[in-house]
Amino acid sequence: MQFHLFNKQDNSNHKKRIKMKIGVTGATGQLGRMVVDKLKEKVSANSVVALVRNPEKAAGMGVEVRSFDYNQSENLALSLQGIDKLLLISSNEIGQRAKQHANIIHAAKQAGVQWIVYTSLLHADKSTLSLAGEHLATEEALKESGIPYTLLRNGWYTENYTASIAGALAAGAFVGSAGDGKISSAPRMDFAEAAAIVLTSEGHAGKVYELAGDQYYTLKDLAAEISKQTGKELPYQNLPESEYARILKSIGLPETFALAIAGWDVSASHDDLFDNSGQLSALLGRSTTPLSQVVADALAAK
Ligand code: NAP
Repeated sequence: MQFHLFNKQDNSNHKKRIKMKIGVTGATGQLGRMVVDKLKEKVSANSVVALVRNPEKAAGMGVEVRSFDYNQSENLALSLQGIDKLLLISSNEIGQRAKQHANIIHAAKQAGVQWIVYTSLLHADKSTLSLAGEHLATEEALKESGIPYTLLRNGWYTENYTASIAGALAAGAFVGSAGDGKISSAPRMDFAEAAAIVLTSEGHAGKVYELAGDQYYTLKDLAAEISKQTGKELPYQNLPESEYARILKSIGLPETFALAIAGWDVSASHDDLFDNSGQLSALLGRSTTPLSQVVADALAAK
């Protein structure tokens, strides 16, 4: 991997001038957009390629856009021509992902991609989360491909919980099935910045990063933080898994998704969303964004 750095004395342009092309899958998704923005801060925009299912959604991203539907395996290798480094952001089509990711890895091999960075799941090899199986299958496919790779085993996004603040305030309680489980989440932006750092620096091939927030909290702590910031008393109500799933279904979630979310909370109750290794802040070179800040941002966005 060859990087051509500007002279450090030259403050007129602090971006790395790299000859390599960095492809980002899922670039029109919430995480993907943040990664592209972070990459543009670090390297010139013409080094970045957004690989997207719907090119019209990528208007205004300011980087090259290529069509890239994971289900159209016959077209993927062509879209990866000239891509040296690939950030494979896991698909959101649960149940289809192992196959979709295998399609991408196969195409990357055909196209001569030199390095794949994959967004996996925190402690994917031990986690009881129902999501772990597809991530492990992808990790295995990467190993078998022979392409150098790096695993970013991302922890829970704090936004997964702050998205429920408005509903919880309306209902008068924050409900869940996570008990006293310790949750070391971080906002998407922290994971995006870490991905951009890994993609634009050396020494990450072959590494597995367990990425999580510096501070852990329980859902009771989260409810207390919301109470503190809003001035409204919001208790945390812990529910049996089936009752929590029933409530999620009653507010309009498809049954399979409601059951899945309740099950993930049960995994959280076993500390499957906990990690205190500090690897995310070590990559970032700063502390991860605290829960209080993400709650404040969510309340300000209401
Ligand atoms: P997101 O906003 O739902 O974005 C998912 C991206 O995947 C979208 O850009 C979507 O394309 C793309 N995609 C889905 N199916 C595709 C296909 N067949 N071909 C091409 N692209 C396809 O998710 P996110 O918040 O950015 O998170 C990124 C990933 O992390 C998710 O996909 C999921 O695997 C995982 N995740 C992690 C957590 C966590 O807490 N760590 C939470 C949720 C999800 P379109 O833009 O065209 O829809």
